[in-house]
Amino acid sequence: MASPLKSLVNDDSRYQKSFQLFLERSSEHQCMQDFIHNKLPDILASIGNGKSHLNVIGVGSGAGEIDLEILSELHMKHPGVTVDNEVVEPSSQQLHNYRGTAFIVLVSQKPGLDYIKFTWNKMTASGFEEHWKVKNMTKKADFIHMIQMLYYVKDPGATINFFQSLLDKNGKLLIILVSGESGWGKLWRTYRNQLCNTEISQCVTTGDIKSFLDSRGVSYQSYELLSQMDITECFTEGDEKGELLLDFLTEVLDFSKTASPELKAGVMELLRHPDCSVESNGKVIFNNNLGVIVIDQVS
Ligand code: SAH
Repeated sequence: MASPLKSLVNDDSRYQKSFQLFLERSSEHQCMQDFIHNKLPDILASIGNGKSHLNVIGVGSGAGEIDLEILSELHMKHPGVTVDNEVVEPSSQQLHNYRGTAFIVLVSQKPGLDYIKFTWNKMTASGFEEHWKVKNMTKKADFIHMIQMLYYVKDPGATINFFQSLLDKNGKLLIILVSGESGWGKLWRTYRNQLCNTEISQCVTTGDIKSFLDSRGVSYQSYELLSQMDITECFTEGDEKGELLLDFLTEVLDFSKTASPELKAGVMELLRHPDCSVESNGKVIFNNNLGVIVIDQVS
């Protein structure tokens, strides 16, 4: 039976608002930045085979904050190399924000981003796949990243297969999702049937992706990133920000108004359970640990 609950991603404006609040209440981007500055440079160093031009694809880039940091590390590892950066992002608001941020970086930095050519694809990952096939594109990519976006495709495995097929020799595909060991993993394992049975929102963790890759015999490297999210406001009945965070946590639009009392009570109890959160100094801190997977194109 189809769930009567609506997915949060159906309402882009509320999704973007709750995502923004999530970024403010969590160390999400901080822990990604630590990874990008400390671990990613070595990963980026081995792509390209000495080519003077690199093709990069960012899938589900959002406002591009993380993408621009990746591009800057790439530039440091491959100075003098030009970059073609394809951005695949269905939200026009997010694309607009990304363009704005890229422009500010462009005018404030010397030598700036003039070594990068941006191509803006206002489309979903599957729209991009179709576009690629229809146009008979033969271009190969050196680096592709999908950061916190595989939840929003119908078939995460098929999406990985397609983008992996675009990798050039020595190319790499980077995937970041919540870790199977995070509070998210626990929440989804418990309430997958109630929360995750819509067509467009999958409760997928890096644990699931690793099982998928293992079953296909694909080798990869993986990393765990420690991260936290302050969810204290969720426990104040009627709190506007708490409700936005709850929508984000459950991926359900207006969760507290539309979920059954039983589901709501169960989710609220689990969210502050030691399997998901620690409580200290009156704060409830949810385990937002992330997983990183890097797939190499060996042949
Ligand atoms: N990578 C960014 C944004 C993550 S939020 C970061 O980590 O900060 C997820 C992004 O995926 C949103 O910008 C959303 O608009 C986008 N998205 C949603 N459905 C998508 C789909 N089917 N294909 C590609 N991107 C999608």
